[in-house]
Amino acid sequence: MAATRGGRTGGRVTFRTRFAPSPTGPLHLGHAYSALLGHEMAMREGGEWLLRIEDIDRQRSRPDWERQIYDDLLWLGLWWPEPVMRQSERLGVYEATLARLWGERWLYACTCSRADIAAALSAPQEGMAPILGPDGMVYPGTCRARDRVPLDGPMPDEALRLQMGRCGELGDARAVEGDVFWFEELGQGPNGEHGPIEFTAETMMREVGDVVLARRGMGTSYHLSVVLDDATQGITHVVRGQDLFEATKIHVVLQRLLGLPTPTYHHHPLVRDDTGRRLAKREDAKAIARYRAEGATPSDIRRLVGL
Ligand code: GLU
Ligand code: ZN
Repeated sequence: MAATRGGRTGGRVTFRTRFAPSPTGPLHLGHAYSALLGHEMAMREGGEWLLRIEDIDRQRSRPDWERQIYDDLLWLGLWWPEPVMRQSERLGVYEATLARLWGERWLYACTCSRADIAAALSAPQEGMAPILGPDGMVYPGTCRARDRVPLDGPMPDEALRLQMGRCGELGDARAVEGDVFWFEELGQGPNGEHGPIEFTAETMMREVGDVVLARRGMGTSYHLSVVLDDATQGITHVVRGQDLFEATKIHVVLQRLLGLPTPTYHHHPLVRDDTGRRLAKREDAKAIARYRAEGATPSDIRRLVGL
């Protein structure tokens, strides 16, 4: 008989979440809310709260910001298992996955600039306003059609895009007919989405398109790393802001493509100021460090974010 204690069944952790900040700036109230909420949920379930440093952007990531993250989180009263996963130490894993997908012809090289894409989308023959997906403008497929780089050559050091047009091959037998992909939402999407979220390959092609899985000079992308890392860390529940709700659909497609489990998701509302603006987007979004310097306590921060 399996012993059950909180979030563990027979020694297996059944609730493991993570907080995954990028060390490209100071943590602000929105980060504090996400971290405190995820930690609280994990502790309530007798589970684990892991920390992951998302530092694939070598231009913008800085060791000072990383140190400040540990410092702020400890000050908030949070704790986590060591060692902390750092994405900059996992570039080999990302590259091996890309090489496999490249070999299976799921990827193609794209040499378009942002301006090229905007121009292609506004060309009269397209006849449609550009669709804004979770990754910005839906890529018109210029390089896919052009086949600039032979698909069977060595993997080039360019941006690599996923052929979303093939994602119908990854169908899920558990989904209802016509809805090929799904995930479980325990929180809420920006439009109140909750429960099983189902979506089709067709929607992914039309509204998301050929996403970039490797940025030029970076060797990976947010979407690819986050999916591989959540699987490697054995994450069962992803707790994060509603701004990533739509991106979750990309993550589910990648999980199916890579044969990885889909965690349960809990997207939470974003912390807003009195006028309803997102804090993170504000120039003067106050860093936790500034509240600290001004004498605030961790309980003040909790109160400020409504916990
Ligand atoms: N690194 C991302 C950020 O700072 C978080 C990604 C995630 O939670 O999936 O917004
Ligand atoms: Zn291109």
